[in-house]
Amino acid sequence: MTVDVPQEILDALTDVAMPRLPPERPSDETVTANGCQLPVYRSGCVIVGSGAAGLRAAVELRRRGRDVTVISQSAWGGTSACSGSDKQTLHTANTADQGDSYRAMAQAIRAGGAMDADTAYVEAVGSSRAMASLQYLGLPLPQDPLGGTLRYQTDHDEVGRATSCGPRTSRLMVKVLAEEAIRLGVPVYNHTTAVRILTVGDADHRRACGVLALRQKERSSHNPQGFCVFQAAVVVLAAGGPGELYRDSAYPNGCFGSLGLALEAGIETVNLTESQFGIGTRREGFPWNLSGTYVQAIPHIFSVDGTGTEHHFLGDYYRTTREMCSNIFRKGYQWPFHATRMLDFQSSLVDLAIYRESAAGRRVFMDFNRNPLPVPGDLPFDPGRLDDDVRSYLRSAGADQEMPIDRLRHMNPLAIELYRRYKVDIAVDPLEFAVNNQHMNGGVATDVWGRSSLNGCYAVGEAAGTHGVTRPGGAALNAGQVFGTRAAEHIAARGFSDSVPDSDFAEAVSAGVAEAKTLVRPGSPLSEKSVREEVQARMSDRAGMICDPESVHLALEEARALNDAIRARGIAPGRSGGAARALQRQQMALASEAVLTALDHFVRNGGGSRGARAICDPDGESLPHVRQGPLEAFRFRREREAHRAEQIVVRFDGKDFHVSSRANRPFDESARSFFERDWPAWLTGEIYGRNTG
Ligand SMILES: Cc1cc2nc3c(=O)[nH]c(=O)nc-3n(C[C@H](O)[C@H](O)[C@H](O)COP(=O)(O)OP(=O)(O)OC[C@H]3O[C@@H](n4cnc5c(N)ncnc54)[C@H](O)[C@@H]3O)c2cc1C
Repeated sequence: MTVDVPQEILDALTDVAMPRLPPERPSDETVTANGCQLPVYRSGCVIVGSGAAGLRAAVELRRRGRDVTVISQSAWGGTSACSGSDKQTLHTANTADQGDSYRAMAQAIRAGGAMDADTAYVEAVGSSRAMASLQYLGLPLPQDPLGGTLRYQTDHDEVGRATSCGPRTSRLMVKVLAEEAIRLGVPVYNHTTAVRILTVGDADHRRACGVLALRQKERSSHNPQGFCVFQAAVVVLAAGGPGELYRDSAYPNGCFGSLGLALEAGIETVNLTESQFGIGTRREGFPWNLSGTYVQAIPHIFSVDGTGTEHHFLGDYYRTTREMCSNIFRKGYQWPFHATRMLDFQSSLVDLAIYRESAAGRRVFMDFNRNPLPVPGDLPFDPGRLDDDVRSYLRSAGADQEMPIDRLRHMNPLAIELYRRYKVDIAVDPLEFAVNNQHMNGGVATDVWGRSSLNGCYAVGEAAGTHGVTRPGGAALNAGQVFGTRAAEHIAARGFSDSVPDSDFAEAVSAGVAEAKTLVRPGSPLSEKSVREEVQARMSDRAGMICDPESVHLALEEARALNDAIRARGIAPGRSGGAARALQRQQMALASEAVLTALDHFVRNGGGSRGARAICDPDGESLPHVRQGPLEAFRFRREREAHRAEQIVVRFDGKDFHVSSRANRPFDESARSFFERDWPAWLTGEIYGRNTG
C-alpha cells in the first residue's frame, strides 16, 4: 500500500531552517602581540566547531553550569548541517527482542579491527541516552503507534540498529541542539576560524590555554588580519573531518577539520589510514551520499564518453543481469567501498567499475527512468529474477513498481524531493555521480572521556579518531553525541574549566601570531589555489580507494617537499577567505603528509587491503574477476590479521613526523557492575580517572 505523504511534510524534512544566533558579546580586553592589538574573549571552555558534536558538548557543559563558548568558521556549515543521504542514519542500540545488546553492538562497531574495545562499548552503551535526549530536545525520529523507534539495517549492521528522520537527520540534530544552546545562553561566535591551539608550560605540564582565531570583523589598522584570542582552560576540538584533503569528495565545501591544528600543537593522532569512500554526488554540485533507496530502487547505471556515446559498463563486470542488479541494490546497505567485496562478484565491484570509468575520463550517471540494461547475452531485468535477499526486501517494502523512479518514490519520496531543492530533478534527468571520499575514521587520539594527549584539550565528533577500520552506518553521528556528552561530563566533574591559566599567556599568543604571520605571505609563489589543487590531486590519485606501495611512497615524498616549501615561502592568500583560508590550506598540506606518513608506514610493514583501501600489489593474494576474466592490475594484498589488533599513532614535533603502533585498548567482556560496590567510585569522581584535563 502506498501512503501519499503531503508536500508540506516532505518540505519540513528537507528544507530545515536554522535558528537565528543572538548578538555576540563584545570583548572588553585586549592583548598586544607582534605589533597587533588583539581582542581577548575569556571563558572556561572554548569549543571549536558548531556541528552536532560541538553543540552537544556545549549544551551538556552549560547544563552543568559551566562557562562555555562556541566558535565556528561557519555556524551552519560543516557536514552535520549540510550533508546527508536518502535516509541519513543514526546508529543506536536495538532491543533484546531484535537480538541486540550493548555488548553485541560494541562488537559490531569494532568488528573491522584497529578500534579500542572500551571506546566501542562506550559508544554502544551511550547510544540509548544519546537518542533519547535528542528526542527530548525535539528530534523527530519516527515511531510506531506504541512508541517503538522505526529502524532498518545499514552497513555493518546485522540487527537493524539504524534510524533516521529522512535525508537531513544530522541537520535536524544541529537544529535542536542549537536551539537548546541558544536557550541556555551559550555564546556562539560565527565566522571565526581557529588557526592555532595556544599552549603554556613544558613537557608533562604543557597544556592548552585557548585558541588563536581569525575574524573578518576584528580587522582594523592595529590588527590588519583580524586576529583574536579565545582564552580558556579547556579547548574542545569539534571541527569535523578533513574534507578538503581530497579532490573527489562528497563533503560540503570548506571542511578542513582540525587535524592540522592538532598536529601543529604536537597532539597524537591515530588511524589516519582509515577513511570511507563510496558513491555520491560531488561537492562541485550538490554533495550527497547515494546509499539506501537511491540504489535499492535499482536504476540503470551508465557512462558517457567524450563523444557523447553511452556505455553499459557494468555489463562487462557481472556474469548475469540478476547478479549485476542484486549488487547495485546491495550498495544500499553495503555502501562504503571494501576491497574484499571486489572478490566473488560482490558489491564493491560496482565501485571499482565506476572508479575505472571516471579514471578513463567518462562521466557516470544513474537513470531512474530506465531499468538496468541486461548483461550482454543474458535475460532482461526482471524484478522476479533477483537474489533472494533483494527480492524479499523489495517485496516487504512493497516496491513492485515498473520503473526505478516509481520504486524510489514509493520507498522514499524525500530522496527525490531533496535533489529538487538543489535544482536537480532525478524524476526527469539522469544523475551524475562518482566514487568519493566521505569520512575520516581516524583523527585525534582520545581516551574514553575524549581527552587528547595534550592536557586541557579534548576532541569529539569526526575530529576524534575513535573509529576503527569499518564503522556501521550512523555510528559517526552517534559517536559525536556520546563523546560530546562524555567530554562535557569529564570537564565539569573535574572542574577543569573553572580557572583560566594566565601565566605565560601573552607569550603563547605572540608565538601563535608570529607563526601565523610567517606562513601567510602575499607574493609567495605558492598560492592558496595551487596548494589546494596539488594536495587534493595527490590524495585522490595516489591515496584514494585504490593505491599501491610505490605511489604512496612517492606521494609522501612530494607532500614533504610541499610542506618544506610552505615553511620556507608561506602561502599567498586568495581573494576569498584571506589569511584564515591560507592557514587552513597549510594545515591541510600538513594533514595530508600525516595521512601519507601513516599509510606509507602501514604498507611498508606489510599492511594489506582493509576498509577503505585496496593495496594493489602484483604479488598480492587476492584477485578480482569480472565477466571476461581476472583484473590483474587490481590484484591486491590481503589484510594481515595482526594489524587488526593495533593502531598507528602519528605525531608531529614541529619538524618531523613520528610514527608508532599501539595495541587496541581492551574491554573485559565478562565484567559486570555491582551497585553497592561501584557506587562510591561514581560518588567520589574516581570513575573519571587521572586528575589532569
Ligand atoms: C555526504 C555525507 C553523508 C553522511 N551520512 C552519514 C550518516 O548517514 N550517518 C552518520 O553517522 N554519519 C554520516 N556522515 C558523517 C557525519 O555526517 C559526520 O561525521 C558528522 O556530521 C561530523 O560532525 P561533527 O560535529 O564532528 O563535524 P561537523 O558537522 O563537520 O562540524 C564541524 C564544525 O566545525 C567548524 N569548523 C571547522 N574548522 C574550524 C575552525 N578551524 N575554526 C572554527 N570552526 C571550525 C565548522 O564550521 C562546523 O561548524 C556523512 C557525511 C557525509 C559527507
